[in-house]
Amino acid sequence: MSSEQHSLIDELITFLENERDMYGPFSVNTDGKHQSTLSVQEESKNDRPEQENSVSESAGHEDSSKPDPLSLEQKLEQCSTLEELKNLCEISDLLHTDLEETNLVFGVGNPTADLMIIGEAPGYNEDQQGEPFVGAAGQLLNKILKAIDFQRDDIYIANILKHRPPDNRNPSSEERERSLPFLNRQIDLISPKIILCVGKVAGTTLLGKDDALKNMRGQFYSYRNAKLTVTYHPAALLRNQKWKRPVWEDVQRVRKTYDELGGQP
Ligand code: URA
Repeated sequence: MSSEQHSLIDELITFLENERDMYGPFSVNTDGKHQSTLSVQEESKNDRPEQENSVSESAGHEDSSKPDPLSLEQKLEQCSTLEELKNLCEISDLLHTDLEETNLVFGVGNPTADLMIIGEAPGYNEDQQGEPFVGAAGQLLNKILKAIDFQRDDIYIANILKHRPPDNRNPSSEERERSLPFLNRQIDLISPKIILCVGKVAGTTLLGKDDALKNMRGQFYSYRNAKLTVTYHPAALLRNQKWKRPVWEDVQRVRKTYDELGGQP
């Protein structure tokens, strides 16, 4: 075998290892059909064509047979700590996707963090461990944070969805709409100075508009008392190095603004 063929195979193995780290084990049938806990997607989740972005009516996942005296808004309002909100999330059907028996991935980190990072949805590893960004993308996120002098424990990390979608597909607009009130309450309880959305799903969901990532990044927006900005998802970086430079610029801007705003630590 030529050295070119060897290096092609090495690249392929690294790619598949990254995919497995991010999305969990998979197997391929000899007849060529997927038979797996995931579909290995050819392109970056964050690099896909525009997804539908119209936010539809709530799916009403809650049991409507028993009238609930409190609205969701009131229940969320009553949560005065992250612990109380987590308990509410544990029992809320509204947060589930159509993948059964997934674990709640509530969020992790400093409950009074001045920087909050928001990703898309838990993957296989996150679902298994109940913690966001613990797979390959999470390892890269930790490195990015370290490069701008943050420890993972200094900040708070959450996702738009709190349960894993099947086959790691993009969260639907309806799933995002059901999850958003919970995330908004979480943001209000943490009260960060800066929110960094990683990836298009997080950016478009919080900004409430469908736009390309390259158009959303590079500026700060106001969101619930915080300054919000958007950059590429670490999973996209793992697949394509071309996002490295813009991510580096974006996170340096985050660090500078954090310091200017007196962010702690
Ligand atoms: N990708 C995300 O957006 N969130 C995670 O928690 C893991 C991977």
